[in-house]
Amino acid sequence: MIETIYIEEQVADHPRTLDILERFPAARKIQCQRYGEIFNRKAQSFRLQKQQPALILASKHKGFVLPTPEAYGIGAKENYYFSHMMNCMYDCRYCFLQGMYQSAHYVLFVNYEDFAREIVDKIQTSKKEVHFFSGYDCDSLALEPVTKFLDYFLPVFRDNPNALLEIRTKSTQIRSLLNIEPFDNCVLAWSFTPAEIANALEHKTPSIDRRIDAIKKLQERGWRIGLRFDPLIYSSEYQTQYQRLFADTLSECDAELLHSVSLGSFRLPKGFFKILKKMYPHEKLFASPLEEENGMFSYKTKIQSEMLNFCSNEILKYIPEEKFYPCQDILSLDVT
Ligand code: SF4
Repeated sequence: MIETIYIEEQVADHPRTLDILERFPAARKIQCQRYGEIFNRKAQSFRLQKQQPALILASKHKGFVLPTPEAYGIGAKENYYFSHMMNCMYDCRYCFLQGMYQSAHYVLFVNYEDFAREIVDKIQTSKKEVHFFSGYDCDSLALEPVTKFLDYFLPVFRDNPNALLEIRTKSTQIRSLLNIEPFDNCVLAWSFTPAEIANALEHKTPSIDRRIDAIKKLQERGWRIGLRFDPLIYSSEYQTQYQRLFADTLSECDAELLHSVSLGSFRLPKGFFKILKKMYPHEKLFASPLEEENGMFSYKTKIQSEMLNFCSNEILKYIPEEKFYPCQDILSLDVT
């Protein structure tokens, strides 16, 4: 799966680096000074690299925990995200990462301890309810067997019950979660689009049925689950498609045990939109009724509010209002 691993000199002897290298004995290993030498090189082809991404093991130096864009959240006043990885093994056509990065290689920051220090610091200094989101610049779980992200970060939040962690994913890598005792201040959140849209746009992701199956197992185990219908994608049949998706997810999962359900509209910054459109000139998504406003591309206001109203009404047939967060006005990310 991973044929080449670049290793920053600074983390060459880090225990996490050594563990990962042991997993890939046949991989070509190349030392580098800083990950940017490989990741930020000019004139790289994201699409070509996506066929066989390398793994880059690196150390993050700053910006471990960042405020989320305004309106991103599930009810708290203070919201942060943190990204132990950049890039994702899935390949969603709407993913903003393709517009943001020059490279499709996976960068894994192995210095988890520095992230944790800043997370705990934020929790201790915050006077409000505080939420943390993982899965912004990557899919939180997709590479779990390699990253062991959960093993390290779940105890950090278990020990700090006044902060909530949301782990955003489309993955079904739940084996380690089934072996961990659930705790209340962790929400495992799955993103969904209707099957027809997922088939067309979410390449390499687990099917909706497999995601639902993973959710059911975790609910039985006692984990709190979030459903994220994000991004909402328009088609002339969107009403039937979303009705079917809500029926499949909300009636299959135990709606009583759901922590929260949210909607997110499709939005991309102008610069990213242009890159994606050039990357996929024949992709119908980018020829749909979008418009630019204040440097962001999104569906025309009329379409967007019709979709949001329709989907909100449908969702509220299954869950009480207090579990519903109607719109996350953010980049199109699952985003993950
Ligand atoms: S949208 Fe999420 S799952 Fe899809 S490629 Fe991007 S990060 Fe991965």
